[in-house]
Amino acid sequence: MRAIVITANGGPEVLEPRDELDPRPGAGQLLVELAAAGVNFRDVYEREGRGAAYKNTPPLICGAEGAGTVLEGAGDFSPGDRVCWAAAPGSYAERVVVDADAAVPVPDGVSAEQAAAVLLQGMTAQYLCTSTYPVQDGDDVLIHAAAGGVGLLLTQLVKRRGARVIATTSTEEKAALARAAGADDTIGYERFGERVRELTGGRGVAVAFDSVGRTTFEESLSALRRRGHMVLFGAASGAPDPYEPEALRKGSLYLTRPGLPDYTATREELLERAADVLGRVAGGELDVRIGGRYRLADARRAHEDLEARRTTGKLILLP
Ligand code: NDP
Repeated sequence: MRAIVITANGGPEVLEPRDELDPRPGAGQLLVELAAAGVNFRDVYEREGRGAAYKNTPPLICGAEGAGTVLEGAGDFSPGDRVCWAAAPGSYAERVVVDADAAVPVPDGVSAEQAAAVLLQGMTAQYLCTSTYPVQDGDDVLIHAAAGGVGLLLTQLVKRRGARVIATTSTEEKAALARAAGADDTIGYERFGERVRELTGGRGVAVAFDSVGRTTFEESLSALRRRGHMVLFGAASGAPDPYEPEALRKGSLYLTRPGLPDYTATREELLERAADVLGRVAGGELDVRIGGRYRLADARRAHEDLEARRTTGKLILLP
């Protein structure tokens, strides 16, 4: 089969299309024929071997998310079933081994492309605004990189909960997409803390959803209202510098660094969040913007575009 192999930790150039042997499922695992693989920022971290969470030993097949058709079943799944997943190592490949416990059925009304595009980022957006900080009707909410994959989904879900969204984006084209997803105010990154204060009558926001990290972290804290929540959930610009907890004293702020595995830790929780997200897609309530479709062999270009901030919405790879 064709697969995208990380030949060494490094830049996009280490992603190499290669012929590999088909993987063999073990007990409790499915073999799946890939229909589409999702591209996520975590794939960049995996490629780089960034930090303790993504330390790895190449060569290995990149990717974790996808959708396809079961070839060999296990658990609740039989050959022919349509499934999607957000946590199967080696998903940039024509055939993928998926733990049956990590697989989610794709409901009628959701295409394989949509499922591969929405599962990981959609469950992330869903847990952030329902569990990490349950957004309330009337809250002011700051969302960074609002035209990105997670950003567009989070903006829609937060609006559904009755909040006001202040969104950051780097270009006017991206700002227009954020507004189309429901953002009330769009601003650039320059002096965004001050802009947020102005837009909230000096109060600050109830919560900042910050996936950018290094370049926004401290200013996001400064944009919070008293007892506001700082949700640092990504590091698109790198991880922030070490932070002194005593600094949270001003305003009695809350700081958390959540990750999807801790919000999908049981099969029950995974299925519940996935059903919520996929159900909203099937019902037309959640729009999934596929901002780029690439051939599997062009994974390198997908990574280059993602890291250069040239993309909007979700990128997928097609075998
Ligand atoms: P996006 O589609 O959001 O792409 C990243 C965006 O971040 C860019 O388009 C860009 O938007 C913005 N950005 C700001 N600074 C930079 C920079 N220096 N380099 C690159 N991009 C920058 O990606 P994803 O939706 O896949 O992921 C977004 C973030 O969410 C990532 O940090 C990812 O790790 C995190 N994440 C966290 C999860 C969790 O559970 N904790 C799960 C899933 C994702 P603009 O040009 O408008 O600034």
